[in-house]
Amino acid sequence: MHSPMFSLEVFPPKRNAPVGTIYDTLDGLEGLSPDFISVTYGHGTHSDRTATARIANTIRKEYRIPAVAHLTALYSDKAKIDEALDMFEQAGVSAVLALRGDPIEGLEPSRDFAHASDLVAYIREHKPDMKVFAACYPEGHIQSASLDEDIAHLKTKVDAGATHLISQLFYDNEDFYRFLDKARAAGIDVPIEAGIMPVAGAKSTRSMAERNRTRIPRAVESMLERWGDDVPTLRAAGINYACEQITDLVANGVDGVHLYTMNRPASTRRIWRNVEALFAVGE
Ligand code: FAD
Repeated sequence: MHSPMFSLEVFPPKRNAPVGTIYDTLDGLEGLSPDFISVTYGHGTHSDRTATARIANTIRKEYRIPAVAHLTALYSDKAKIDEALDMFEQAGVSAVLALRGDPIEGLEPSRDFAHASDLVAYIREHKPDMKVFAACYPEGHIQSASLDEDIAHLKTKVDAGATHLISQLFYDNEDFYRFLDKARAAGIDVPIEAGIMPVAGAKSTRSMAERNRTRIPRAVESMLERWGDDVPTLRAAGINYACEQITDLVANGVDGVHLYTMNRPASTRRIWRNVEALFAVGE
């Protein structure tokens, strides 16, 4: 029996936030030794490119944890992608999570990368030594007509060279298992990590769910209704719920769990303390 992977995701500090806050986050995560920490990317501005590469470099060099850099392509031409990939290479990232990115109303996308699969193929061709990861959606991506259609596109992404998938957040493990069965039946045989985001606020949970077409099951709806105005209790309940999801996923043989930390090290540590033993099988 192999031990599942455990990875974390952080984001560069928001504009106007002190740069040092990311170091507080990383300091707070010290000692957790995940398989990797991934760093998100914005819409492709110069500050996105430098911030993601800089933080990835710090994670690798100072915290000695493999770093994965996200990269979005919808608003970047080939020259900007080349620049970002060079920076990631210099930062020693262990893989790039190749993403299309979300459309922005009124902004004309670049013509070079219409889908994430175009970026996956481009990285495979231009940086053959770089590992390429990609995103997947247990409930189907919001722009796809059906889960089956989305999985057909996911297969294209894997055939283009993505060797590892990380899922969007979901609150009902049954949705993940249904997706996993369909993905495997479609011939997608790369590792698929389950994305878990602990519930931390009622408003943010609802708006995120609406944006991503994530179903809120009754158990989570009850938490939001009962403790929506009581943030500390809602967060405690969210941590418990995330631990239950993770326990069930590991029991069912998941390839790995990717925790969206939301740059909240205290919650991340509490979750890790609860589930750590589940990830040590065979060690
Ligand atoms: P794609 O794989 O291109 O899919 C997008 C849509 O196009 C889907 O509906 C798909 O079915 C469809 N499609 C794909 N290929 C084709 C085709 N050949 N023909 C027709 N339709 C097709 N966003 C950020 O801005 N920064 C981040 O750092 C970031 N990190 C993320 C990490 C994870 C793990 C996940 C799950 C999402 C992340 N996102 C991030 C959000 C992501 O950018 C959006 O979900 C985006 O809308 C889709 O990106 P994608 O790479 O999945 O796109």
